[in-house]
Amino acid sequence: MTKKGFNTTNLHSDRRDNPEHGVLHKAIHPSVAYGYEDARELAEVFQGKRAGYIYGRQLNPTVTALQNKITAMEEGIATAVFATGMAAIASTMLSLLRAGDHIVSSAFLFGNTNSLFGTFQNLGIEVTFVDATDVVEVKSAIKENTRLVFVETIANPVTQIADLAGIGALCKSKNLIFCVDNTMTSPHLFQPKSVGASFSVNSLTKYIGGHGNALGGAITDTGLFDWTSFANIYENYKNQDSQLWGITQVKKKGLRDIGASLGPEAAHHLAVGSETLSLRMNQACSNAQKVAEFCAQHPKVKQVYYPGLPTHPQHGRAKELFNGFGSVMSIDLVDGVDCFDVLNAMDNIVSSSNLGDTRTLAIPVAHTIYYEMGAERRASMGISDSMIRFSIGIEEVEDLLADFKKALA
Ligand SMILES: *Cc1c(COP(=O)(O)O)cnc(C)c1O
Repeated sequence: MTKKGFNTTNLHSDRRDNPEHGVLHKAIHPSVAYGYEDARELAEVFQGKRAGYIYGRQLNPTVTALQNKITAMEEGIATAVFATGMAAIASTMLSLLRAGDHIVSSAFLFGNTNSLFGTFQNLGIEVTFVDATDVVEVKSAIKENTRLVFVETIANPVTQIADLAGIGALCKSKNLIFCVDNTMTSPHLFQPKSVGASFSVNSLTKYIGGHGNALGGAITDTGLFDWTSFANIYENYKNQDSQLWGITQVKKKGLRDIGASLGPEAAHHLAVGSETLSLRMNQACSNAQKVAEFCAQHPKVKQVYYPGLPTHPQHGRAKELFNGFGSVMSIDLVDGVDCFDVLNAMDNIVSSSNLGDTRTLAIPVAHTIYYEMGAERRASMGISDSMIRFSIGIEEVEDLLADFKKALA
């Protein structure tokens, strides 16, 4: 069969999985429990000898349909979805790592992931933060007990782009799990599998859902990591194809034990949202490019951070790897211009902390999402006190530019 396009595959995936009554959207199944005519079948499902549903915390048919869509988007082998993006990251790490293990992480991280890794340090999992825009920095941090390297595609809010291809090759040569948070690019702009990632993480709350009306997170196994070489897989999960050992442990230990499971209603909202991912992202990226170019020549703007500008330090890398430059753009204002005054003068742009929404949202990062981190760590991440992060939406670009003109005047 010829390979279908990204949208075609997504739009027809529920229908092709033999749904009830020929429905085009997988139904929302609220049932927590599942009954079996033959109790032996129930036992076989428990023992992993037969596919089936047991209890809503582990899986639900509406959730399965969403997992299938994400797996197809990432061209992976399996996906586990969770109640939020943070739940996906935390549950994956807690199921695969043990005290005494070491993670090398990008220093340029989503604030809550940074906070989570601090918690891991207190639980006996070592974390070294490095400048992941350069593979040399990652390489020099690797130790005997390193198990995993974690990076984001485009980092928040300064938009640094990790040396994804270099780190992928390094992880392959050292046999390390390479976990890429693909939230800021989404599988429409980038598939981490293309640079050798073992896992792609997506906060479904952001671009994939896109409408800002449901939380969710996903971890997709790309099929590239050799799980037979990984010391932390429990014997119980080795009774099947070794490609599935890692994701099975994430589903068992992560979903079953930790229980940050995605509900069927949210799964439905996210699946419907995902149908328009590429259309929304193309429009948002195009708008962001125009807004970034406008800001770059404005006298009240000291600095613009956007990978689509030729002056961005990793512009060439972004162009080579991504199918677009994303819709997150940050600016530093010149001294004497107050970020709160600028935000309050905007009409169409909302002061709000989400990103990847259809609406344009903006936030003064040092005073909000990066406040708890403290001034020193903020400075090391290149976050200034006047920085505003914009998640550009799909409005008509003229209306966005009008807001910038007015607010910066
Ligand atoms: C938002 C976000 C997350 C966390 O996702 P939630 O669904 O909000 O828990 C993780 N990584 C990145 C890069 C994000 O932007």
